[in-house]
Amino acid sequence: MRAIVKTKPSAGVEFVEHYPEPEIDVDQVLVEVGATSICGTDAHLYAWDASAQAFDPQLPFVMGHECAGTVVRIGANVRSLAVGDRVAAESHIFCGACYMCRIGNAHNCYNLKLLGVTRPGAFANYVALPASVCFPLPPTLPFDIGALFEPSGNAVHAVQRAGNLDGCSVLITGAGPIGLVLIQLAFAMGASSVVALEPNPFRRGLAAKYGARALDPAKADLDAIVRADYARHGGFDVGFEVSAAPGTHEQILRAVRREAIVVCIGLPNRAISLDISEFIAKKMIVLKGVFGRRIWETWEILLALVEAKRLDLAGMITHHLSIREFEHGIALLKSDSAKVIISPN
Ligand code: ZN
Repeated sequence: MRAIVKTKPSAGVEFVEHYPEPEIDVDQVLVEVGATSICGTDAHLYAWDASAQAFDPQLPFVMGHECAGTVVRIGANVRSLAVGDRVAAESHIFCGACYMCRIGNAHNCYNLKLLGVTRPGAFANYVALPASVCFPLPPTLPFDIGALFEPSGNAVHAVQRAGNLDGCSVLITGAGPIGLVLIQLAFAMGASSVVALEPNPFRRGLAAKYGARALDPAKADLDAIVRADYARHGGFDVGFEVSAAPGTHEQILRAVRREAIVVCIGLPNRAISLDISEFIAKKMIVLKGVFGRRIWETWEILLALVEAKRLDLAGMITHHLSIREFEHGIALLKSDSAKVIISPN
């Protein structure tokens, strides 16, 4: 089968035409990949930077963790799926036995393996998946959209963590794919206004299309915006930090009101310092984070919103490439793009 394989602890990947098909064990299924999408994590793995090495992947491995496809073989113990089922993959492969799994927090399993990072991934014709991480898709849902459930689910989970958004003003730092889903979700969940900070003009255009006031962080004067439009509350009611760009945490903590909720989604590649006295103790901001999706609550909320057309994932797809063009796809992440779909053929 064709596969994108990370073989060396340096920048780059290998496109392999004849890579061995994965074997499945009794609890797994073999999925013929229909579509995958490229994530910022893939760009880090490609570059083999500090963020990539922090995951401690064992070389060589097939990359790719955002995927959907068709079940073509099932292990002897699998009862929940049948050959021909269409599924999307939860990339957080949980053990099901540890404390976090047992209390319903499998996304934060103590023995977590990450598809396409610390387990063989989906930039290939076939991927082996535990049946326990397969999310059944309706027959009419395209694989391109199914592949976007994993990244979009991070945004849904962030909104779950933020709680009630009725009438809230929302500030989002970063209008990449997760920020773009957050903008739509915030409005779907009752937010009154959304300001999105995003340096890329193309992405600001998408953010504006979804109803946000999209601003260039290098030029936006957030203090002036708060004074002009959010003075009654003393700042934004809710903040979502997505970009993990330098300075954004401080920026968001300053721009939200007292006792606001701020949810961190972006992963800074180094420790950052925060003024705990000012922001957490005195301003009483509630700082939360998300890593992955609640299994399967997040996925079911997402599916319901997509099926009801309250959430447009298709509009975020800017490029369709073949697996041979993977490196071009990585380059596109740094230019005018949102989601890049990779077909295995
Ligand atoms: Zn576990």
